[in-house]
Amino acid sequence: MSQYWNKRTQGLQPYVPGEQPQDQAYIKLNTNENPYAPSKKVLDAMHTAVESGLNLYPDPQCRELKQAIATQYEVAYENVFVGNGSDEVLAHIFAGLFAEDKPLVCPDISYSFYPVYAQMYGIELQKVPLNNAFEIELENYPTDNGGAIFANPNAPTSIALKRDEIEKFLKRNQETVVVVDEAYVDFGGESCVPLVAQYDNLLVVKTVSKSRSLAGLRVGYAIGSPELIEGLERVKNSFNSYPLDKVALAGAKAAMEDQLSFDQARNEIMQVRARTAQALQALGFDVLSSKTNFLFASPKTMPAEKMYLALKEAGVLVRYFNQPRISEYLRITVGTAEEMQVFLGAVEKIINT
Ligand code: PMP
Repeated sequence: MSQYWNKRTQGLQPYVPGEQPQDQAYIKLNTNENPYAPSKKVLDAMHTAVESGLNLYPDPQCRELKQAIATQYEVAYENVFVGNGSDEVLAHIFAGLFAEDKPLVCPDISYSFYPVYAQMYGIELQKVPLNNAFEIELENYPTDNGGAIFANPNAPTSIALKRDEIEKFLKRNQETVVVVDEAYVDFGGESCVPLVAQYDNLLVVKTVSKSRSLAGLRVGYAIGSPELIEGLERVKNSFNSYPLDKVALAGAKAAMEDQLSFDQARNEIMQVRARTAQALQALGFDVLSSKTNFLFASPKTMPAEKMYLALKEAGVLVRYFNQPRISEYLRITVGTAEEMQVFLGAVEKIINT
């Protein structure tokens, strides 16, 4: 605490991302990164951007990237917003689109950045519990709200809702903004982008950090009606006109256009996920049905925290949340087949000692 911090800063409880240790080489299965490198096409595009010079500012409208996203998702240019990681896109949504006089509804267990942004922007949260199977039940969400936000598939639970279920909610909640965070949707979920044309209050948030192997580049985007996008542009241009640098713009555009590498990486991850889930079940774990690039699993035979610490000791990092309801679970990112072999070997050893 410092006398130089204003009241708001004093009251903040910042988000704590998963560890990014620098001290030793771990098998990193704790921050849901993609284990595969971006393709040569993406790297070449970034090299070209650097070689063309960085003395000038990048395009503040990010037009070429927005157009590539629009083409990829078969929407109009006016339906696309881009930001410095989907975290920044989310921050602008909290700042600009959720009402301040009514609570924002969200799941009790979801992406832990939502409460942080709510606090930062003075938005009250009304948390609706997941059911006992850790599923979001949108039929329990009140419509007298200042907005709604949830991740689909949800994190850290890995479970996906069907598009139909989300549409049912949209049909009865048309007065306030509904945000579907699709950070993990490319690993088997159903995207809500096709609903954007019908529901002006729907905003779908996405990222190149997971399925497009570019967590290090910091590019996220949102797809929604032109009026929602224009609102986000107003916030963005009141905060930072150039949130995406020239290299990030070029890399993300190339990634949008590289369908082959995208499909290869996500298909491989889905296959490794299925094999890892089976192996964990065979070791006695309870594994939730995942449509993401991670597994949410409970060791059952020993405390999850103990397993997390023992894995760390063995050089494998997974994510452990010491939080009500989920303190007996681990979130395990799906790495390469080789990494998952090492992980499973370590788990087996820990269980048997
Ligand atoms: N939404 C969810 C559900 C996430 O898990 C993450 C990753 N931590 C993000 C958004 C943010 O991703 P990024 O800022 O890398 O786009």
